[in-house]
Amino acid sequence: MAETTRLTIQIKDIDNVAVAVHDLPAGTVIECGVTTLADIPQAHKIALTDIPAGGEIIRYGVVLGYAKADIPAGSWINEHMLNLPESPSVENLPYGTNILQPEDLPMPQRTTWMGYRNETGPAATRNLLGIVTTVQCAAGVLKVAVERIKKELLPKYPNVDGVVAVTHPYGCGVAINAPLAYLPIRAITNVIRHPNFGGEIMVVGLGCEKLTYDRVLPPEDITPENVLTLQDWPGHDAMMQAILDMAEKKLQKLNLRQREELPLSELLVGMQCGGSDAFSGITANPSAGYAADLLVRGGGTVMFSEVTEVRDGVQMLAARCPDAHTRDRLAQEMKWYDDYLAAGGVDRDANPTPGNKKGGLANIVEKAMGSIAKSGTSPIVEVLSPAEKPTKHGLIYAATPASDIVCGPCQVASGIGLQVFMTGRGTPYGLDIAPVIKVCSRNEMKEHWFDMIDISAGAVATGEATIAEVGTEIFNMILDVASGIREPYSDQYGFHNDMCIFNPAPIT
Ligand code: CA
Repeated sequence: MAETTRLTIQIKDIDNVAVAVHDLPAGTVIECGVTTLADIPQAHKIALTDIPAGGEIIRYGVVLGYAKADIPAGSWINEHMLNLPESPSVENLPYGTNILQPEDLPMPQRTTWMGYRNETGPAATRNLLGIVTTVQCAAGVLKVAVERIKKELLPKYPNVDGVVAVTHPYGCGVAINAPLAYLPIRAITNVIRHPNFGGEIMVVGLGCEKLTYDRVLPPEDITPENVLTLQDWPGHDAMMQAILDMAEKKLQKLNLRQREELPLSELLVGMQCGGSDAFSGITANPSAGYAADLLVRGGGTVMFSEVTEVRDGVQMLAARCPDAHTRDRLAQEMKWYDDYLAAGGVDRDANPTPGNKKGGLANIVEKAMGSIAKSGTSPIVEVLSPAEKPTKHGLIYAATPASDIVCGPCQVASGIGLQVFMTGRGTPYGLDIAPVIKVCSRNEMKEHWFDMIDISAGAVATGEATIAEVGTEIFNMILDVASGIREPYSDQYGFHNDMCIFNPAPIT
């Protein structure tokens, strides 16, 4: 059989299901000799053996769930046919049992990129003026002001790539002293210092909000050059002019910045997936994982996140923690999120979406096994809470919600210069502070959104490309986009999501 006519993919020998590479009609004889008993939609699972009621359904070598009724070989297994297993315990997880050495990782062909160096922290992939609000009340004024800055001022400063209004929903009408308020406050504090803003601080407040400047800036930075309070200005024209004058001074400084050749250790890349399907874990996420391994081997830093989408593989991540401290931090973050979900009356199985299920993902266990693949294979050198900044180089686990539009801002607050986003179903997702490269899991997705998806990993499913080949393509695009040589589609069109920062604390 030619590779391009592959019908199904079975990942591990012990798996008793395979995934359909294309829509398969009933009566198709698949590779293992089993005949399909029903029409199998693309990416959905086929039973390879008779599975009795209560029997294990195994994919990735992992128990996805238990059959609710007898499932004859050749059946379509959909999300209604299995019971979810218990969530694995986070107590006393074995650690350090799967630690790859640097020489075990693939060696990148490129070891430098062109970025804007910062005094501290990772270098910038873009040279942006970032203007951050301390309250949503200021958002309308700031958005209008930013449009004027782009039209009237930006053309005079050709070395500046853009102007971003960072308008988030936090700042007032919130329980600012609630125990969990530190999370949104930390996100805003760190976003003000995002590497792509080059250390130029510009914060716009209303004047009566709870999130006062001293909660997000040290005293020495609270100056008339850095902060502007709308209530201090008499009417529209004076207010707009004040914002434009302040912005112009920042643009003058930013315009002096130049890209220079930098080592990969100056690059911080985030990984995320969303709108996943059953191919995500075979094609797009492992390819991104290969790119992550290349970056880490080259000295770079890669962050992956999304607690509910790694929760069922926590033992696999603990095995990649080199010491008890890192393992304990991982367990703490998992436990925090378990409690957070329980307080809301749900558990991790609230995660999969209707689109995930239509794409063949039966439950959160199956989704998690695919999601973890984007972390590659290197050791986890540090575990962060949401919106914290890394202190180490290498592979970092940064706990965040899995929600695309919340994970993105959390990783941005942690300082990513670029995000790689894997999707099966398709999303126009993008971020204005850091470019987003989108990688799809199936060729059909790329054909459908040919001018919105940057890279297709679909050829891995059909056997026409290897994970290493697509992974290297992703790695090269990461360096090209980080260096400002290429623009991903989301930036070409300006498809940028809002700054939906994570706020688990009460709103008053
Ligand atoms: Ca996500």
